[in-house]
Amino acid sequence: MKLYLLFLLFALSACTQSVTSRLAESTDWIILEDTGEQTNCNASANYEIDTTHLDFWPIKYVRLGLHVMDRTSRPFSFDTINGPDQLKTLIKMSNDILAKRQHLLLPKDNNYPALTTRMRYEISPDVDPTKDGIYFHYDEEMPYHMHNGKFQNRGDGKIFNKYKYRNDSILNVFFIAHHPDSVASKTYGTGNAGVAFGSRYLKMVGHWHDFQKPWEVRKTLLHEISHIYKLNHSWIKNDGCDDTPVHKNCWNYNSPAGCTEVSNNIMDYSALSIAFSPCQVGRMHAAMSREKSKARAYVKPNWCEGTNQHAELQDSFVLRRETDLEGDLTLLPGSYLEVRCRLSIPKGHRITVLPGATLALAGGRIHNSCGFKWEGIFVERTKRRHGNLILMGGGSIEDALGGSILPDLLPSTN
Ligand SMILES: [Zn+2]
Repeated sequence: MKLYLLFLLFALSACTQSVTSRLAESTDWIILEDTGEQTNCNASANYEIDTTHLDFWPIKYVRLGLHVMDRTSRPFSFDTINGPDQLKTLIKMSNDILAKRQHLLLPKDNNYPALTTRMRYEISPDVDPTKDGIYFHYDEEMPYHMHNGKFQNRGDGKIFNKYKYRNDSILNVFFIAHHPDSVASKTYGTGNAGVAFGSRYLKMVGHWHDFQKPWEVRKTLLHEISHIYKLNHSWIKNDGCDDTPVHKNCWNYNSPAGCTEVSNNIMDYSALSIAFSPCQVGRMHAAMSREKSKARAYVKPNWCEGTNQHAELQDSFVLRRETDLEGDLTLLPGSYLEVRCRLSIPKGHRITVLPGATLALAGGRIHNSCGFKWEGIFVERTKRRHGNLILMGGGSIEDALGGSILPDLLPSTN
Protein backbone atom coordinates (compact mmCIF):
# COMPACT_ATOMS: atom_id res chain seq x y z
CA MET A 1 0.00 0.00 0.00
CA LYS A 2 2.80 2.40 0.94
CA LEU A 3 4.53 1.70 -2.35
CA TYR A 4 1.33 2.43 -4.22
CA LEU A 5 0.97 5.82 -2.46
CA LEU A 6 4.54 6.72 -3.23
CA PHE A 7 3.99 5.89 -6.89
CA LEU A 8 0.82 7.98 -6.95
CA LEU A 9 2.65 10.96 -5.43
CA PHE A 10 5.42 10.67 -8.00
CA ALA A 11 2.96 10.45 -10.85
CA LEU A 12 1.08 13.50 -9.57
CA SER A 13 4.24 15.57 -9.23
CA ALA A 14 5.30 14.60 -12.75
CA CYS A 15 1.99 15.80 -14.14
CA THR A 16 1.73 19.02 -12.19
CA GLN A 17 5.05 20.57 -12.98
CA SER A 18 4.88 24.02 -11.48
CA VAL A 19 4.48 26.83 -13.98
CA THR A 20 4.93 30.47 -13.12
CA SER A 21 3.66 33.31 -15.22
CA ARG A 22 4.69 36.94 -14.97
CA LEU A 23 4.72 40.15 -16.94
CA ALA A 24 7.85 40.37 -19.09
CA GLU A 25 10.59 42.76 -18.05
CA SER A 26 13.22 44.51 -20.11
CA THR A 27 15.86 42.00 -18.95
CA ASP A 28 13.90 39.11 -20.50
CA TRP A 29 14.71 40.27 -24.03
CA ILE A 30 17.68 38.90 -25.91
CA ILE A 31 19.00 41.30 -28.51
CA LEU A 32 19.96 39.72 -31.84
CA GLU A 33 20.93 41.07 -35.22
CA ASP A 34 18.07 41.11 -37.70
CA THR A 35 19.09 38.97 -40.65
CA GLY A 36 15.57 38.66 -42.10
CA GLU A 37 14.14 40.22 -45.24
CA GLN A 38 13.03 43.84 -45.30
CA THR A 39 9.25 43.95 -45.00
CA ASN A 40 6.78 46.16 -46.81
CA CYS A 41 3.86 46.04 -44.38
CA ASN A 42 1.49 47.51 -47.00
CA ALA A 43 2.20 44.98 -49.77
CA SER A 44 -1.11 43.31 -50.52
CA ALA A 45 0.65 39.99 -51.24
CA ASN A 46 1.37 39.82 -47.49
CA TYR A 47 -2.37 39.93 -46.76
CA GLU A 48 -3.32 36.90 -48.85
CA ILE A 49 -4.95 34.42 -46.54
CA ASP A 50 -2.73 31.73 -45.05
CA THR A 51 -5.21 28.99 -44.25
CA THR A 52 -2.77 27.36 -41.83
CA HIS A 53 -2.86 30.47 -39.63
CA LEU A 54 -6.48 31.59 -39.80
CA ASP A 55 -6.36 32.77 -36.18
CA PHE A 56 -4.44 35.75 -37.53
CA TRP A 57 -7.26 36.61 -40.00
CA PRO A 58 -10.35 37.31 -37.86
CA ILE A 59 -13.44 37.81 -40.04
CA LYS A 60 -13.98 41.50 -40.75
CA TYR A 61 -17.51 42.98 -40.84
CA VAL A 62 -18.25 45.96 -43.11
CA ARG A 63 -21.03 48.11 -41.68
CA LEU A 64 -23.65 49.27 -44.16
CA GLY A 65 -26.43 51.85 -44.02
CA LEU A 66 -29.09 51.17 -46.67
CA HIS A 67 -31.03 54.10 -48.14
CA VAL A 68 -34.13 53.58 -50.26
CA MET A 69 -34.89 56.58 -52.45
CA ASP A 70 -38.50 57.01 -53.63
CA ARG A 71 -41.28 59.50 -54.48
CA THR A 72 -44.74 59.61 -52.99
CA SER A 73 -46.22 60.91 -56.25
CA ARG A 74 -45.06 57.91 -58.26
CA PRO A 75 -43.58 55.17 -56.08
CA PHE A 76 -40.94 53.12 -57.81
CA SER A 77 -38.92 51.58 -55.03
CA PHE A 78 -39.14 49.11 -52.13
CA ASP A 79 -42.20 49.52 -49.97
CA THR A 80 -41.82 49.86 -46.24
CA ILE A 81 -43.69 46.61 -45.55
CA ASN A 82 -41.65 44.12 -47.60
CA GLY A 83 -38.57 46.18 -48.39
CA PRO A 84 -36.67 45.69 -45.12
CA ASP A 85 -36.90 41.90 -45.33
CA GLN A 86 -35.92 41.90 -49.00
CA LEU A 87 -32.88 44.03 -48.24
CA LYS A 88 -31.89 41.89 -45.27
CA THR A 89 -32.11 38.82 -47.50
CA LEU A 90 -29.92 40.54 -50.07
CA ILE A 91 -27.22 41.09 -47.44
CA LYS A 92 -27.54 37.53 -46.18
CA MET A 93 -27.20 36.11 -49.69
CA SER A 94 -24.20 38.31 -50.39
CA ASN A 95 -22.59 36.99 -47.22
CA ASP A 96 -23.25 33.43 -48.37
CA ILE A 97 -21.01 34.13 -51.36
CA LEU A 98 -18.35 35.79 -49.21
CA ALA A 99 -18.33 32.70 -46.99
CA LYS A 100 -18.21 30.11 -49.74
CA ARG A 101 -15.07 28.60 -51.26
CA GLN A 102 -15.30 29.27 -55.00
CA HIS A 103 -12.78 27.93 -57.44
CA LEU A 104 -11.79 30.40 -60.18
CA LEU A 105 -12.53 29.38 -63.78
CA LEU A 106 -9.73 31.58 -65.13
CA PRO A 107 -6.85 31.31 -65.68
CA LYS A 108 -7.71 27.99 -67.28
CA ASP A 109 -6.59 24.94 -65.30
CA ASN A 110 -5.31 27.07 -62.41
CA ASN A 111 -4.71 25.43 -59.08
CA TYR A 112 -5.27 28.49 -56.92
CA PRO A 113 -6.74 27.68 -53.55
CA ALA A 114 -10.49 28.33 -53.32
CA LEU A 115 -10.58 30.72 -50.40
CA THR A 116 -13.25 32.20 -48.25
CA THR A 117 -12.86 35.95 -47.96
CA ARG A 118 -12.83 36.27 -44.14
CA MET A 119 -15.10 39.29 -44.73
CA ARG A 120 -18.84 39.86 -44.30
CA TYR A 121 -21.36 42.70 -44.53
CA GLU A 122 -23.81 43.74 -41.87
CA ILE A 123 -26.56 46.32 -41.76
CA SER A 124 -25.36 48.54 -38.97
CA PRO A 125 -27.96 49.03 -36.27
CA ASP A 126 -28.62 52.67 -35.66
CA VAL A 127 -27.62 54.55 -32.52
CA ASP A 128 -31.31 55.42 -32.44
CA PRO A 129 -33.04 52.17 -31.32
CA THR A 130 -36.17 53.01 -33.33
CA LYS A 131 -34.16 52.76 -36.57
CA ASP A 132 -32.69 49.59 -37.99
CA GLY A 133 -30.10 50.81 -40.47
CA ILE A 134 -32.57 50.85 -43.41
CA TYR A 135 -33.79 54.33 -44.29
CA PHE A 136 -36.64 55.32 -46.59
CA HIS A 137 -36.44 58.77 -48.17
CA TYR A 138 -39.34 60.26 -50.17
CA ASP A 139 -38.07 63.17 -52.20
CA GLU A 140 -39.74 64.53 -55.32
CA GLU A 141 -36.69 66.59 -56.23
CA MET A 142 -34.04 63.94 -56.30
CA PRO A 143 -33.06 63.16 -59.90
CA TYR A 144 -33.68 59.73 -61.36
CA HIS A 145 -30.66 57.79 -62.44
CA MET A 146 -29.47 58.02 -66.03
CA HIS A 147 -26.80 55.41 -66.49
CA ASN A 148 -26.02 56.09 -70.16
CA GLY A 149 -26.73 58.52 -72.96
CA LYS A 150 -26.62 62.25 -73.39
CA PHE A 151 -28.03 63.00 -69.94
CA GLN A 152 -26.16 60.38 -67.96
CA ASN A 153 -25.72 61.43 -64.34
CA ARG A 154 -23.90 58.47 -62.85
CA GLY A 155 -21.55 60.81 -60.99
CA ASP A 156 -24.28 63.05 -59.57
CA GLY A 157 -23.68 63.41 -55.81
CA LYS A 158 -26.94 65.12 -54.75
CA ILE A 159 -28.33 62.06 -53.00
CA PHE A 160 -25.19 61.47 -51.00
CA ASN A 161 -24.77 65.12 -50.09
CA LYS A 162 -28.33 65.34 -48.78
CA TYR A 163 -28.85 61.94 -47.16
CA LYS A 164 -25.42 60.65 -46.13
CA TYR A 165 -25.59 59.39 -42.59
CA ARG A 166 -22.79 58.50 -40.16
CA ASN A 167 -20.53 58.13 -43.15
CA ASP A 168 -17.43 58.39 -40.96
CA SER A 169 -18.08 54.82 -39.83
CA ILE A 170 -20.75 53.33 -42.13
CA LEU A 171 -20.72 52.68 -45.86
CA ASN A 172 -23.81 54.37 -47.29
CA VAL A 173 -25.59 52.39 -50.03
CA PHE A 174 -28.34 54.16 -52.02
CA PHE A 175 -31.02 52.19 -53.88
CA ILE A 176 -32.23 54.36 -56.72
CA ALA A 177 -34.15 53.84 -59.95
CA HIS A 178 -33.69 54.45 -63.65
CA HIS A 179 -35.60 57.40 -65.07
CA PRO A 180 -39.10 56.14 -66.04
CA ASP A 181 -38.71 57.66 -69.49
CA SER A 182 -35.54 55.63 -69.97
CA VAL A 183 -37.28 52.48 -68.90
CA ALA A 184 -39.87 53.15 -71.62
CA SER A 185 -37.14 53.63 -74.24
CA LYS A 186 -36.18 50.61 -76.32
CA THR A 187 -32.56 51.70 -76.72
CA TYR A 188 -31.72 52.37 -73.07
CA GLY A 189 -30.42 49.41 -71.07
CA THR A 190 -32.32 49.27 -67.79
CA GLY A 191 -30.88 46.25 -66.04
CA ASN A 192 -29.43 46.29 -62.57
CA ALA A 193 -26.39 48.48 -62.24
CA GLY A 194 -24.14 49.87 -59.57
CA VAL A 195 -21.72 52.75 -59.17
CA ALA A 196 -19.03 53.04 -56.50
CA PHE A 197 -17.67 56.47 -55.65
CA GLY A 198 -14.07 56.12 -54.53
CA SER A 199 -14.19 54.99 -50.92
CA ARG A 200 -17.19 57.17 -50.08
CA TYR A 201 -20.49 55.50 -51.02
CA LEU A 202 -22.27 53.53 -53.68
CA LYS A 203 -25.45 53.55 -55.73
CA MET A 204 -27.46 50.46 -56.63
CA VAL A 205 -29.78 51.00 -59.59
CA GLY A 206 -32.72 48.75 -60.40
CA HIS A 207 -36.46 48.17 -60.67
CA TRP A 208 -36.86 47.93 -56.94
CA HIS A 209 -40.64 48.27 -57.06
CA ASP A 210 -40.82 44.84 -58.73
CA PHE A 211 -37.98 43.44 -56.69
CA GLN A 212 -38.77 39.93 -55.56
CA LYS A 213 -35.52 38.06 -55.91
CA PRO A 214 -32.74 39.49 -53.77
CA TRP A 215 -30.20 36.99 -55.13
CA GLU A 216 -30.41 38.64 -58.54
CA VAL A 217 -28.52 41.72 -57.42
CA ARG A 218 -26.15 40.24 -54.87
CA LYS A 219 -23.35 40.07 -57.43
CA THR A 220 -23.76 43.77 -58.22
CA LEU A 221 -23.58 44.62 -54.52
CA LEU A 222 -20.49 42.43 -54.02
CA HIS A 223 -18.85 43.94 -57.11
CA GLU A 224 -19.45 47.53 -55.99
CA ILE A 225 -18.41 47.04 -52.38
CA SER A 226 -15.28 45.30 -53.67
CA HIS A 227 -14.50 48.45 -55.65
CA ILE A 228 -14.68 50.36 -52.35
CA TYR A 229 -12.20 47.78 -51.00
CA LYS A 230 -9.65 48.56 -53.73
CA LEU A 231 -10.50 45.93 -56.32
CA ASN A 232 -10.43 46.89 -60.00
CA HIS A 233 -12.07 45.29 -63.00
CA SER A 234 -10.20 42.08 -63.46
CA TRP A 235 -10.46 41.47 -67.21
CA ILE A 236 -8.14 44.42 -67.88
CA LYS A 237 -4.40 44.71 -67.39
CA ASN A 238 -2.96 46.40 -64.33
CA ASP A 239 -5.79 45.60 -61.93
CA GLY A 240 -3.14 45.17 -59.25
CA CYS A 241 -3.35 41.38 -59.26
CA ASP A 242 -1.21 38.88 -61.18
CA ASP A 243 -3.68 36.05 -60.68
CA THR A 244 -6.50 37.65 -62.71
CA PRO A 245 -5.76 37.16 -66.45
CA VAL A 246 -6.73 39.55 -69.23
CA HIS A 247 -9.68 38.16 -71.21
CA LYS A 248 -12.59 39.18 -73.42
CA ASN A 249 -15.06 39.68 -70.57
CA CYS A 250 -17.75 37.41 -72.02
CA TRP A 251 -21.11 37.56 -70.28
CA ASN A 252 -21.67 33.81 -70.64
CA TYR A 253 -20.90 30.85 -72.87
CA ASN A 254 -21.88 31.86 -76.43
CA SER A 255 -23.10 35.22 -75.15
CA PRO A 256 -22.11 37.14 -77.12
CA ALA A 257 -21.95 34.51 -79.86
CA GLY A 258 -18.63 32.73 -80.08
CA CYS A 259 -17.71 33.15 -76.39
CA THR A 260 -16.04 30.02 -75.11
CA GLU A 261 -14.05 31.44 -72.22
CA VAL A 262 -16.12 32.82 -69.34
CA SER A 263 -14.76 34.14 -66.07
CA ASN A 264 -16.45 33.78 -62.70
CA ASN A 265 -14.39 36.50 -61.05
CA ILE A 266 -16.53 38.93 -59.08
CA MET A 267 -14.79 41.86 -60.77
CA ASP A 268 -15.69 40.76 -64.30
CA TYR A 269 -19.02 41.47 -66.00
CA SER A 270 -20.19 37.89 -66.19
CA ALA A 271 -23.32 35.93 -65.43
CA LEU A 272 -21.19 33.60 -63.30
CA SER A 273 -19.23 36.10 -61.23
CA ILE A 274 -19.02 34.96 -57.64
CA ALA A 275 -15.33 34.16 -56.99
CA PHE A 276 -12.40 36.13 -55.59
CA SER A 277 -8.74 35.45 -56.37
CA PRO A 278 -6.19 35.10 -53.55
CA CYS A 279 -4.65 38.43 -54.53
CA GLN A 280 -8.04 40.17 -54.53
CA VAL A 281 -8.79 38.92 -51.03
CA GLY A 282 -5.33 40.13 -49.99
CA ARG A 283 -5.97 43.60 -51.42
CA MET A 284 -9.25 43.92 -49.49
CA HIS A 285 -7.61 42.85 -46.23
CA ALA A 286 -4.73 45.26 -46.83
CA ALA A 287 -7.28 48.09 -47.23
CA MET A 288 -9.12 47.05 -44.06
CA SER A 289 -5.89 46.91 -42.04
CA ARG A 290 -4.53 50.32 -43.01
CA GLU A 291 -5.08 52.62 -40.03
CA LYS A 292 -6.94 55.89 -40.69
CA SER A 293 -8.16 54.68 -44.11
CA LYS A 294 -11.79 55.14 -45.10
CA ALA A 295 -12.06 51.46 -45.99
CA ARG A 296 -11.08 50.55 -42.43
CA ALA A 297 -13.42 53.13 -40.89
CA TYR A 298 -16.43 51.15 -42.22
CA VAL A 299 -15.22 47.93 -40.60
CA LYS A 300 -16.69 47.08 -37.22
CA PRO A 301 -13.77 47.70 -34.85
CA ASN A 302 -13.86 44.36 -33.05
CA TRP A 303 -10.16 44.79 -32.40
CA CYS A 304 -10.75 47.60 -29.87
CA GLU A 305 -12.21 45.57 -27.02
CA GLY A 306 -12.08 42.13 -28.60
CA THR A 307 -14.63 39.39 -29.17
CA ASN A 308 -12.90 36.74 -27.07
CA GLN A 309 -11.77 35.06 -30.25
CA HIS A 310 -8.39 33.88 -29.01
CA ALA A 311 -5.44 33.11 -31.26
CA GLU A 312 -2.89 30.33 -30.81
CA LEU A 313 0.31 29.56 -32.65
CA GLN A 314 1.90 26.14 -32.65
CA ASP A 315 4.49 26.47 -35.43
CA SER A 316 6.59 29.22 -37.00
CA PHE A 317 4.96 32.30 -38.46
CA VAL A 318 6.30 35.68 -39.58
CA LEU A 319 3.81 38.54 -39.41
CA ARG A 320 4.56 40.67 -42.47
CA ARG A 321 1.30 42.58 -42.42
CA GLU A 322 -0.71 44.75 -40.08
CA THR A 323 -2.86 42.51 -37.93
CA ASP A 324 -5.73 43.17 -35.55
CA LEU A 325 -6.49 40.33 -33.17
CA GLU A 326 -9.73 40.04 -31.22
CA GLY A 327 -8.59 38.14 -28.12
CA ASP A 328 -5.55 36.75 -26.30
CA LEU A 329 -2.58 35.46 -28.27
CA THR A 330 -0.87 32.35 -26.91
CA LEU A 331 2.40 31.03 -28.29
CA LEU A 332 2.44 27.29 -27.62
CA PRO A 333 5.63 25.36 -26.71
CA GLY A 334 7.96 25.13 -29.70
CA SER A 335 6.27 27.94 -31.66
CA TYR A 336 8.00 31.03 -33.06
CA LEU A 337 6.28 34.31 -33.93
CA GLU A 338 8.21 37.10 -35.62
CA VAL A 339 6.44 40.47 -35.58
CA ARG A 340 7.61 42.71 -38.42
CA CYS A 341 4.57 45.01 -38.70
CA ARG A 342 1.77 46.42 -36.54
CA LEU A 343 0.01 43.95 -34.25
CA SER A 344 -3.02 45.08 -32.24
CA ILE A 345 -4.14 43.29 -29.06
CA PRO A 346 -7.60 44.17 -27.70
CA LYS A 347 -8.28 45.93 -24.46
CA GLY A 348 -7.74 43.75 -21.40
CA HIS A 349 -6.12 40.93 -23.39
CA ARG A 350 -2.57 39.63 -23.40
CA ILE A 351 0.18 37.79 -25.23
CA THR A 352 1.39 34.69 -23.39
CA VAL A 353 4.68 33.06 -24.32
CA LEU A 354 4.62 29.50 -23.00
CA PRO A 355 7.79 27.62 -21.99
CA GLY A 356 9.77 26.76 -25.13
CA ALA A 357 7.94 29.32 -27.31
CA THR A 358 9.56 32.42 -28.79
CA LEU A 359 8.24 35.88 -29.54
CA ALA A 360 10.61 37.89 -31.77
CA LEU A 361 9.99 41.58 -32.30
CA ALA A 362 11.68 42.57 -35.56
CA GLY A 363 10.75 46.15 -36.31
CA GLY A 364 7.08 45.60 -35.50
CA ARG A 365 4.77 47.57 -33.25
CA ILE A 366 2.58 45.83 -30.71
CA HIS A 367 -0.23 48.05 -29.48
CA ASN A 368 -3.99 48.55 -29.24
CA SER A 369 -5.23 50.23 -32.41
CA CYS A 370 -7.91 52.15 -30.47
CA GLY A 371 -5.52 53.43 -27.81
CA PHE A 372 -6.95 51.20 -25.05
CA LYS A 373 -4.76 49.43 -22.53
CA TRP A 374 -3.93 45.79 -23.15
CA GLU A 375 -2.41 43.59 -20.48
CA GLY A 376 1.06 43.14 -21.92
CA ILE A 377 3.37 40.20 -22.63
CA PHE A 378 3.46 37.35 -20.11
CA VAL A 379 6.25 34.78 -20.07
CA GLU A 380 5.71 31.40 -18.47
CA ARG A 381 8.44 29.38 -16.88
CA THR A 382 8.88 25.83 -15.61
CA LYS A 383 11.90 24.47 -13.80
CA ARG A 384 13.67 23.68 -17.05
CA ARG A 385 12.16 25.91 -19.74
CA HIS A 386 10.77 29.38 -20.22
CA GLY A 387 9.20 31.59 -22.87
CA ASN A 388 11.76 33.45 -24.97
CA LEU A 389 11.70 37.07 -26.08
CA ILE A 390 13.96 38.31 -28.86
CA LEU A 391 14.43 41.86 -30.08
CA MET A 392 15.86 42.19 -33.58
CA GLY A 393 16.53 45.58 -35.14
CA GLY A 394 14.09 47.50 -32.97
CA GLY A 395 10.35 47.68 -32.54
CA SER A 396 7.92 49.16 -30.08
CA ILE A 397 5.39 48.15 -27.49
CA GLU A 398 2.65 50.67 -26.83
CA ASP A 399 -0.52 50.93 -24.74
CA ALA A 400 0.54 47.98 -22.55
CA LEU A 401 -0.01 47.92 -18.82
CA GLY A 402 3.49 47.96 -17.37
CA GLY A 403 4.82 50.17 -20.16
CA SER A 404 7.15 49.45 -23.04
CA ILE A 405 9.49 46.99 -21.25
CA LEU A 406 11.92 46.94 -24.17
CA PRO A 407 15.66 47.22 -23.48
CA ASP A 408 17.77 49.87 -25.16
CA LEU A 409 19.35 48.48 -28.29
CA LEU A 410 23.13 48.19 -28.39
CA PRO A 411 24.76 51.01 -30.36
CA SER A 412 25.32 50.10 -34.00
CA THR A 413 28.84 48.93 -34.80
CA ASN A 414 28.74 50.46 -38.32
ZN1 LIG B 1 -17.15 47.81 -61.71
